[in-house]
Amino acid sequence: KDHILEVEDLHVSFHTQNGVVNAVRGVNFTLNKGETLAIVGESGSGKSVTAKAIMRLLPKQNARITSGKINYENHDLLDMPIRKVQQIRGSQISMVFQDPMTALNPTMKIGKQIIEGLKKHQNLTNQQARIKAIEMLKLVGIPNAEERLDSYPHQYSGGMRQRVVIAMALACNPKILIADEPTTALDVTIQAQILELMKALQKKTGASIIIITHDLGVVANMADRVAVMYAGEIVEMGTVEEIFYTPQHPYTMGLLQSMPKLHEDRTKPLIPIPGSPPDLASLGAGCPFAPRCPYTMKVCHYFAPGTSEGTNGHSVACWLQDERTPKELQPVGIGG
Ligand code: SF4
Ligand code: MG
Repeated sequence: KDHILEVEDLHVSFHTQNGVVNAVRGVNFTLNKGETLAIVGESGSGKSVTAKAIMRLLPKQNARITSGKINYENHDLLDMPIRKVQQIRGSQISMVFQDPMTALNPTMKIGKQIIEGLKKHQNLTNQQARIKAIEMLKLVGIPNAEERLDSYPHQYSGGMRQRVVIAMALACNPKILIADEPTTALDVTIQAQILELMKALQKKTGASIIIITHDLGVVANMADRVAVMYAGEIVEMGTVEEIFYTPQHPYTMGLLQSMPKLHEDRTKPLIPIPGSPPDLASLGAGCPFAPRCPYTMKVCHYFAPGTSEGTNGHSVACWLQDERTPKELQPVGIGG
C-alpha cells in the first residue's frame, strides 16, 4: 500500500504538578494516500496529543516527545529543523481544530486572512490571491462570497467560520488534513454539511484525512479505517466495518454500546462503560483497561497485552486475542 505518513512507537509525556503524565505510549499507525483514518476514544486518551505531535505543535514548556518517528514522505518530521516543519505545515499538512477561532484572527477581515495565507504558501499576486479567495469561499458554500471577504470573523456564524477554516486548510491542496473534532461545536445539520464538504474536497484533491472524534456517527460517515485509543495507546485498529461489526477489544465493544450510532435504532438503550480512565501519571503494570473490563483475567493485572496483528491489518491489544493466552482462560463467544 501507498503510505503517506507512518507513526512509529510515538511516546509523549507532560510534566505536570502531579508528576509525569505519559499521554501517548507507543502509538503506531500508517496513513494511506487518499484514505480517511478516524482516531476515536474518550477525552484524555491521547488523540489530540498524537495529532499535535505530528504537527510539532505541542507546548514547549511541558511536553516532551520522548521517542518515536513520524515519517512523512520518507523524512522524519521529529528530526527536522522546525523551520522546515513550518513550511510543511499549512502547505502539505493542514490542521483544523474544534474552535475555528483558533485559526482566525478576530481583528482581521476574512478576505485578508485568506489572501495572506495564499500568498504565504503560493506564488500569487494580490489580484490572483483575491480571485482564488473568492473561488474558495464559493466552493465551501459561502453566499455572496465577494462581499463576505470584507467581513470580520464575528460577522460569520460558527458553521460559516468552520467552513472558512476548512477552505483555508485545503486552499494549498495539502496532502494530509488533520481535523480534530472539527464539527463537535456545531449543530447536527451544519455538522453534516461540513462533513460532506470535507469528503467532496477530498475527492477533488485526493488528500488523506485524519479525523479525531468521539462521535461514532462521524466515524461511520467519514472513515475508511479506525484507530481506537485508550490511555495513550491504540488498543484496536481496523477498517470501519471491522470496528463496527466485529470489534475485538472490550473497550471498543463498550464504546459501541455507550454511544449513539448513525442510522441505528435510537430506542436501543445506551450502556455506559463503568468506571473512568486511569490516571496516566501513575499507571501500574498490567492492562490499563483491566479495572473497567468485563473480561479481565489474572494475566491482565500483571502484564500489559501486546498488539496482535490479525488478517488484513485488523490489530488488537488484548490478552483475549493473544494466542499465548491459554485457551481455557479465554471466555467463549467474544470477538470475531
Ligand atoms: Fe480486558 Fe484483559 Fe483484554 Fe485488558 S487485556 S481488555 S483487561 S481482557
Ligand atoms: Mg481532544
